[in-house]
Amino acid sequence: MATEKSAVFIIFGGSGDLAHRKLYPALYRLFKAGMLKDHFAVIGTARRPWSNEYFRQTVITSLEDFDDDKRMMENFAMHFYYQSHDVNDSDHYIALKQLASKLDDRFDTEHNRVYYMAIAPRFFGTVAAHIKSEGLKTDGYNRLVIEKPFGRDLNSACDLNDALSKAFTEEEIYRIDHYLGKKMVQEIPNLRKKNPKFDEILNNKYVSNIQVTLGESLGVEDRGGYYETAGALRDMVQNHIMQILGVVAMDEPDVMDAKSIHDIKEKLFASLKDLTPDEVSKKFVRGQYDTDEMGKLNPYRKEDKVEEDSNIETFAAGKIEFDNERWSNVPFYVRSGKRMPKKSSRIDIVFNEKVADLGIRANTIVTLFIEPDEGSSILINGIDYREVKQNLIKYPEDPEIFDNAREAYESLIIDILAGDKANFTLWEELKSTWKYIDVIRKQWDEESPKFPNYLSNTMGPDTADTLLEKDGNSWIWN
Ligand code: NAD
Repeated sequence: MATEKSAVFIIFGGSGDLAHRKLYPALYRLFKAGMLKDHFAVIGTARRPWSNEYFRQTVITSLEDFDDDKRMMENFAMHFYYQSHDVNDSDHYIALKQLASKLDDRFDTEHNRVYYMAIAPRFFGTVAAHIKSEGLKTDGYNRLVIEKPFGRDLNSACDLNDALSKAFTEEEIYRIDHYLGKKMVQEIPNLRKKNPKFDEILNNKYVSNIQVTLGESLGVEDRGGYYETAGALRDMVQNHIMQILGVVAMDEPDVMDAKSIHDIKEKLFASLKDLTPDEVSKKFVRGQYDTDEMGKLNPYRKEDKVEEDSNIETFAAGKIEFDNERWSNVPFYVRSGKRMPKKSSRIDIVFNEKVADLGIRANTIVTLFIEPDEGSSILINGIDYREVKQNLIKYPEDPEIFDNAREAYESLIIDILAGDKANFTLWEELKSTWKYIDVIRKQWDEESPKFPNYLSNTMGPDTADTLLEKDGNSWIWN
């Protein structure tokens, strides 16, 4: 059985989409696994004046995908409480503190607190400041969980971090990048460790290039308002793609603990090869989707809450390089786009001819599939295709529950409860990646792109192909 954990969760934005779609189902799985059992409570806070009963009904509704005994869901929901709350009202924090303290006694939660920011980013600083000023922090642990986006450039990220640091130590802050919660991404360090030969050839002697694609088939759907303030570079490259690069490209730590992993990742991001403004157009390209071939789908500019002349990119691709011993001269090609032909997150590692010296076929390609497929494949000389379907991670404590259906959010909540920060983003890493991304963003903001420039259901603009062709390379997934 899983080890039971104790905590009061305070979910700011408890009536919202993230809470209902991701957090409550994830908590429910932990409940079923026995990791959350008798000693936990969840306070949902939001502006609406909901009762506990109504809130619990919404929680049960969020579990509709589970084909479970209603009683189990009701037992779970009995741990949920609702507190109507305005983020700017100090009195509300005092009420929240009293309720949390009462639940501490009722559920014997050892005064542990998880403060979860499932709320708009503009409120993160205010909420953190009030948690401190109104004395919500306890003598148990106090862990602050922050959703993306963490700033929109280096300056705003620094401001946000300064604000949070006044109330929480870096040790107490858990910045979510849900790609770090995905099974296959978490498996990469294990794959490397378990296969020393693979790790041995992961360097500039044997690797021709590495490609990371986070492709989505959907458009912006109903998130046009948010997307207009973000774009693919901020929404996907600065955080998810950079963090995946971190896991693939980092040196192997001597010990697999959070501190060693972060020390090594921090060093890696500090070695990102500087990008000058005039290199941006040579190394990065952007795109915006048009309708599809049949003219049926909306172009981005016709989507709800999107400006008719919007220059926001729905596709970004680039060539990222590191200036370090292991990776200098190896291009890391990255891309992320909406309305690509299918959803696929994958990493393609293309080896050169020198691997033949080690008895491996020249130009072998190893692909790591992150989602929706999970596993890896090896493509040798374009002919011999061997697929290795893996049953990747099993949670030793409860294999049945934690097998394939385990979701990124569950895995990350388990880490938060265990105080394990290996799969969260630290501030120094973020600082380096924002600094890098800012150069691109600034340059792009100064130039008017010719948008739209790719049809829906295609692989993005032609310039994304040219980017690799200039180096004599091509995208493996095409
Ligand atoms: P949402 O709009 O569905 O929910 C926002 C919540 O904040 C609601 O509960 C609302 O009542 C509450 N709220 C708004 N103003 C408030 C105020 N003044 N005082 C107190 N509560 C207030 O948003 P969401 O999609 O759930 O996103 C929440 C956060 O998670 C955002 O930071 C978002 O960027 C991030 N995020 C969401 C997703 C997702 O899948 N929805 C994915 C990644 C990150």
